[in-house]
Amino acid sequence: MSIGVLALQGAFLEHCDILSAITHQPVLQVRTTDELSQCKALVIPGGESTTMSLVANRSGLLEPLREFCNDPSKAVWGTCAGMILLAKEASQTKKGGQELFGGMDIVVNRNQYGSQVESFQEDIQFNCLSTPDPVNGIFIRAPILHSYEANKGIIELGCLTSNPVDHAVAPQGHVVALRQNNKMCTSFHPELTRDTRLHVYFVEHIVNKLG
Ligand code: GLN
Repeated sequence: MSIGVLALQGAFLEHCDILSAITHQPVLQVRTTDELSQCKALVIPGGESTTMSLVANRSGLLEPLREFCNDPSKAVWGTCAGMILLAKEASQTKKGGQELFGGMDIVVNRNQYGSQVESFQEDIQFNCLSTPDPVNGIFIRAPILHSYEANKGIIELGCLTSNPVDHAVAPQGHVVALRQNNKMCTSFHPELTRDTRLHVYFVEHIVNKLG
């Protein structure tokens, strides 16, 4: 079984490159139901969540993706737009909004860290990685975690220590990385740096521990 990277739009090549460098397991770009069925894990990249869900819908991949993301025996990691798609609810900035995949009991607000020009980088402290030095988080029109359901096994992996953008109100206190059983999300882009520790964490602590 492969580690898939959803390759409909966005920064999927960067995820593929890092995964191929850190594991000998096959890494597969996923664009079809058949490719998805060969995967035990899936990374949903950053990009544009509305586009990804529209393309998924038109290519018949939306329902298979929903099934995959809601299957407890599969590992899934969503980054930025991927975090939005993994949410069970997202605030919509345009009429109609987008279809979500679900899989994590989180509610997010899209684009709440600001517009493209308000993109920023900020250190994030993690306790679960191989070394304690902070991760450089790259935030590009990133979602804010609005809330998550208690008693659903959600753990906070990483948090911003200050409010990076004046207007950004985060009811949950700027938690930017979460895990719920075999599902994980980050509101920033770890694939755009040379730091591979989050990919290693996903593979070693989630994918390799699947039953
Ligand atoms: N704002 C984008 C969305 O709503 C996500 C941006 C990103 O992935 N960098 O999908």
